[in-house]
Amino acid sequence: MNIPFLSLKGITDKYSAEIHEAVSRVVNSGWYLLGEENATFEENYAKYIGTKHAIGCANGLDALIWILRAYMKLGVMAAGDEVIVPANTYIASILAITDNNLVPVLVEPSIATYQIDDSKIEAAITPKTKAIMLVHLYGQCAYTEKIKQICEKYNLKLIEDNAQAHGCLYYGKKTGALGDAAGHSFYPGKNLGALGDGGAVTTDSEELAEIIGAIANYGSSKKYVFKYKGRNSRLDEIQAAVLNVKLKYLDEDNNRRKQIAKKYIEEIKNPNIILPTVVDWNSNVFHIFPIRTGNRNELQAYLANKGIQTLIHYPIPPHKQECYKEWNNLSFPITEQIHREELSLPISPVMSDKDVQFVVDGIFEKCYE
Ligand SMILES: *Cc1c(COP(=O)(O)O)cnc(C)c1O
Repeated sequence: MNIPFLSLKGITDKYSAEIHEAVSRVVNSGWYLLGEENATFEENYAKYIGTKHAIGCANGLDALIWILRAYMKLGVMAAGDEVIVPANTYIASILAITDNNLVPVLVEPSIATYQIDDSKIEAAITPKTKAIMLVHLYGQCAYTEKIKQICEKYNLKLIEDNAQAHGCLYYGKKTGALGDAAGHSFYPGKNLGALGDGGAVTTDSEELAEIIGAIANYGSSKKYVFKYKGRNSRLDEIQAAVLNVKLKYLDEDNNRRKQIAKKYIEEIKNPNIILPTVVDWNSNVFHIFPIRTGNRNELQAYLANKGIQTLIHYPIPPHKQECYKEWNNLSFPITEQIHREELSLPISPVMSDKDVQFVVDGIFEKCYE
């Protein structure tokens, strides 16, 4: 048997007829950028997330960069100001901060949830702190009432990195609608993935939406009139058309991910393996199914040998990366422990029950061999 970590082809095949129809429609329309597909997707996605606005852009990293840049244009923050971010996030959250000459302040996650530890945020706040970038890592909601209270108390913007959590709920409200603005990625491997790069910002702020729409289009919201020194960061019509198809099935796809996660949690029983803590089944869309174990590399090799592909999210934490040399001597023990022990099991809406059983059995054999 051969179980890939995630079969992108399998996912595309599932919606093949509708995707081909959508792509052909764009090909035949003769209109490839900032057209009807993009406008429809922005409307559909804003409605889905529950915000007044959604603005398509080129990718998830840009979405986060444009949110911070728009706040700088509005004078909410300036170069040198600080943004709090979880130390164990994917590098893109942090790149978005440094790209704007803002300063990331790394805060440790909780070892139980892998999400930012809200009891450690206040100690990281200084007079220069202007925002918290909350990352719903692995598809699990990171938002808490305490974080909201901290934002209110210190007058901080709450920016969500929702790249891994499309469709995730916090008491009936979607992640991406919990803060002031959110960045979304439609990288093919995400829960809502395009057939290439894509991203979006969601927000209730008309002002922010207007600035971001302009920045992502050369700084212009009126043809040949340039208000900002912008960039070219648009969501193209083909990707928007594909996303309009896949958005309809996002909840169904997420439900399949949850079923698989449930089976893993019920059936992987071993004292050496730490399964994810599920606080609330609505608050996790299982972009990743992370387990932790002391002999991670050995387990990964064993499973690979059986044809089960696993990945590590992520092997090297941001503060140990060469691009952030200035942080290499810092110590974040919980973050480092997660990076040493984490292993991501295959999970996707197109995995069959048989595939899931094969993974469960493979882990069982390894543990009792
Ligand atoms: C994927 C991802 C991004 C970046 O999205 P791209 O579309 O690949 O630029 C940002 N943050 C997190 C947490 C991600 O997983």
